[in-house]
Amino acid sequence: TAAIRIRGLEKVYGNGFSALKGIDLEVQQGDFFALLGPNGAGKSTTIGILCSLVNKTRGEVEVFGHNLDRELMAAKHCIGVVPQEFNFSQFEKCMDILINQAGYYGIPLARARERAEHYLRRLGLWDKRDVPSRMLSGGMKRRLMIARALIHEPRLLILDEPTAGVDIEIRRSMWEFLQEINAQGITIILTTHYLEEAEQLCRNIAIIDQGNIIYNTSMKALLKEL
Ligand code: ADP
Ligand code: ADP
Repeated sequence: TAAIRIRGLEKVYGNGFSALKGIDLEVQQGDFFALLGPNGAGKSTTIGILCSLVNKTRGEVEVFGHNLDRELMAAKHCIGVVPQEFNFSQFEKCMDILINQAGYYGIPLARARERAEHYLRRLGLWDKRDVPSRMLSGGMKRRLMIARALIHEPRLLILDEPTAGVDIEIRRSMWEFLQEINAQGITIILTTHYLEEAEQLCRNIAIIDQGNIIYNTSMKALLKEL
């Protein structure tokens, strides 16, 4: 089974705007995949549908073989999401944010603490464990969102513009971290409008423009054409 299988996916927003015009897309297990495209192309809409934050209008979506219409919870448990915007409760402490997220997935507290500590350490946030999230820098907030997305051990991590507005050193350490977890078997899909980010990290890409996939190939093949 593929990690993601999308067939004929359409999205028409409430105002009548057609953001996805029937896309097909497959992402294999273990891949490091980039969804590239200019602002407004439909990247966030696609991701929103994958993690069921946005309702699709038409089409079929499977996540590790789980159909979104019929096996929503199973599909959701396979996915961890790092949204573009910081969406923590501002006053909650970093450790508590992770513990609470684990709670949504029914992970026992002892296990949740263990995993939270592991990711806070690995992402350089252990010193900040008792600090309210609003006190963190932008790069730290981004890393905390990554830790939160991984707390329930998803098989697929989806990141929407993961390094937008993050300075270059933090960006490189985030890239390294993502490569490490991908090497451990977690499939990764990210959206970006930086070709360089995709080039550094990704094996396969799709380019989306005005709600259509206009290109879907390996990074190597894309670089040859440029
Ligand atoms: P990207 O992530 O590639 O920048 P989006 O998926 O956010 O693109 O948006 C695709 C298009 O859909 C854009 O033209 C955007 O303005 C439009 N759009 C996004 N959300 C809504 C919404 N809730 N209602 C109407 N149009 C929307
Ligand atoms: P699930 O049931 O799969 O956890 P939810 O609808 O509860 O899905 O949450 C969707 C996403 O919203 C989560 O993946 C998480 O990133 C975010 N989220 C959920 N609860 C909170 C919260 N209390 N604070 C911040 N973000 C949250």
